[in-house]
Amino acid sequence: MSQPNPLEQWLKDFFGYDSFRPGQAKIVEEALQNRDLLVIMPTGGGKSLCFQLPALLKPGLSVVVSPLIALMQDQVDTLLDNGIGATFLNSSLSSQEVRSREQAIVNGKIKLLYVAPERLLNGKFTPFLDFIAQKIGISAFAIDEAHCVSEWGHDFRPEYRQLRQIRQRYPQVPMFALTATATKRVQEDIIKQLGLRQPGIHLNSFNRPNLYYDVQSKERRSYNKLLTCIRGKKGSGIVYCLSRRSVDEIAFRLQNDGVDALPYHAGMDDQARRLNQNRFIRDDVQVMVATIAFGMGINKPDVRFVIHYDLPRNLEGYYQESGRAGRDGEPAECTLFFSLSDLKRIEYLIDQKTSPQEQKVSRQQLRQVVDYAEGNDCRRTIVLRYFGERFSGNCGNCDNCRHPKPIEDWTIEAQKFLSCVARCNERFGMTHIIDVLRGSKKRKIEQYGHHLLSTYGIGKDKSVAEWKMLGRSLIHQDLLDETSDGFSILKLNRRSWEILRKQRKVEIAITQKSASKVLGDYNPRAAEIELLFERLRNLRKQLADRNNIAPYVIFADSTLKLMAKLKPQTLQDFSKISGVTDYKINQYGERFVSEVRAFCQEQAPPNPLPTQSNMITLQLYQQGLDTAEIAELRGLKESTIYSHLSELIEMRQPVDIKKLVLPVRQDIIIQAIKKIGDGALTPIKEYLGDNYSYNEIKLVRAWYRREQQF
Ligand code: ADP
Ligand code: ZN
Repeated sequence: MSQPNPLEQWLKDFFGYDSFRPGQAKIVEEALQNRDLLVIMPTGGGKSLCFQLPALLKPGLSVVVSPLIALMQDQVDTLLDNGIGATFLNSSLSSQEVRSREQAIVNGKIKLLYVAPERLLNGKFTPFLDFIAQKIGISAFAIDEAHCVSEWGHDFRPEYRQLRQIRQRYPQVPMFALTATATKRVQEDIIKQLGLRQPGIHLNSFNRPNLYYDVQSKERRSYNKLLTCIRGKKGSGIVYCLSRRSVDEIAFRLQNDGVDALPYHAGMDDQARRLNQNRFIRDDVQVMVATIAFGMGINKPDVRFVIHYDLPRNLEGYYQESGRAGRDGEPAECTLFFSLSDLKRIEYLIDQKTSPQEQKVSRQQLRQVVDYAEGNDCRRTIVLRYFGERFSGNCGNCDNCRHPKPIEDWTIEAQKFLSCVARCNERFGMTHIIDVLRGSKKRKIEQYGHHLLSTYGIGKDKSVAEWKMLGRSLIHQDLLDETSDGFSILKLNRRSWEILRKQRKVEIAITQKSASKVLGDYNPRAAEIELLFERLRNLRKQLADRNNIAPYVIFADSTLKLMAKLKPQTLQDFSKISGVTDYKINQYGERFVSEVRAFCQEQAPPNPLPTQSNMITLQLYQQGLDTAEIAELRGLKESTIYSHLSELIEMRQPVDIKKLVLPVRQDIIIQAIKKIGDGALTPIKEYLGDNYSYNEIKLVRAWYRREQQF
């Protein structure tokens, strides 16, 4: 074991955390030695702390340059809620507000000042900065999102170029540049543009171990698949779509299906966009359906899932966007929906480009995305290889590692397929080849005389989907070529001929019809933790609304989870939890501790937890199965499942009535219950008539009873 790090005590005192994230301690140490630094960490790596902690430990003011107003606001809120003197200056403030903040700085009350780059170099601001440098001292300049300085990056901002003047004006003050950018060229450019002097370079791994990666095929009924996927998830999430139109459409359909969702895209006016973004950050809604523009300007650390409903154009983009999940280090899921029609659509767009060089680059990038999506290897390994990082083998946290697809020998099928390609003179695409193999009666086949080929109808024993799976796998394994000029014609290559000559075997990974859901073991303790977590989350939301801040500013999810697990019933126990500082104890300790106490009293007999059977239903429901599927899997009647869900609702378990009964129907059923009473079902049913089922009424009655309990 290594010696306990003295900095860890400060970490606990200021931020409440027990230990540093990888890389942080070394960076803080070097910052304290007044070295220039270049810090490259993936999103969620914990970059902010690398300049915040030194700022608190050194005399003087640290100036943080940040490109976006929303980001400044967020970081300052978080620091203030830890009792740390921080403020920002930007164009959103009145001149009076600016003066009073400047006064606080002059009085030495502020350790961290956030500013936009254009202000820092503004002729009116520099005299103030000179004054501060003399009177208080400037301990460091931290340049956040430093890749904005480079034209090679994806987010170049001309204002950032002028930051070089800072170095000239205050040569003694150390400069820290921080970024999540992945490319070497940008990293070198940052050093050059900012004039960093022999900086300590800290390049962290791009691996994000807490993210689970998976890919789902999106062919028919893709919206339903998305809906099921979202229903199975908890916490905030983002659904990325390619076009504004599909953002609007998907958001609308999700709302209709009872999911709390809002749209976000560049076609909306500023105010509507800001409003929706804020409602997402404050946990008023669960899901944001957005174009990829969304997410850059926000820091929300507790995004629990990111779904790409459409195919991204390159892997770097995919990594950055999916990386907006799980910044807090807690488990989060990144799902990519992949379909061949998306692929064709992007190929078509690439064909429209006029520059051959651009076309070539785009095709290469798309190819890497497809390799990721269709690959059977560890997804994490594929992504990290893209960033030049070697990660070998089984990560245990992606679909391919957790549920490896069975491998089968399909040499004979491949021979049939390839010889059909040959007999059609390598002039047709996959659909046609499969039609011939399966003996289709389509006109096109007779037109070309392909019904006379010896391969006509020799593949009736396999479905279209199976042949497609084989065809894609052959292409993916380079055993067959497909032209990418918009026509997607299949061509044999050297290796195809080896297969036809029986010199090469073909193995393919078999995609199962549907990923089999496993019946989780019912674990009463885990269920109890989950319940308490939900209650604490609600309390956090109430307090956040009252203080007009985002819930995660109060406590991170990880801290709430620890509370749910350790159930602190005294302030003393509460103080030991990671993420809890003295300041937080004063602000929130009583409220959280009494919530835990109330929970523990309620859970004591005679208020037992739900029955095991109910809990199994709950687990499956939370995995996104609908009532019919749960009934089938458990060999029970569907009405029994409805009874379970009703009991769960009445016991305040996390079953969302809105997802089961449309709000308008709920209202009408509630009217009836108010008239007839919440006793027996039959009279309510008779009153409502055939339009309303027993199942629905049962659910709403449970919800009604639960609301009456208080
Ligand atoms: P980045 O800017 O690198 O994306 P942040 O600085 O926003 O990451 O940090 C991401 C999250 O991790 C924040 O919620 C932050 O409070 C949390 N965090 C940072 N350092 C630690 C730590 N040592 N222990 C626990 N949580 C941390
Ligand atoms: Zn893996």
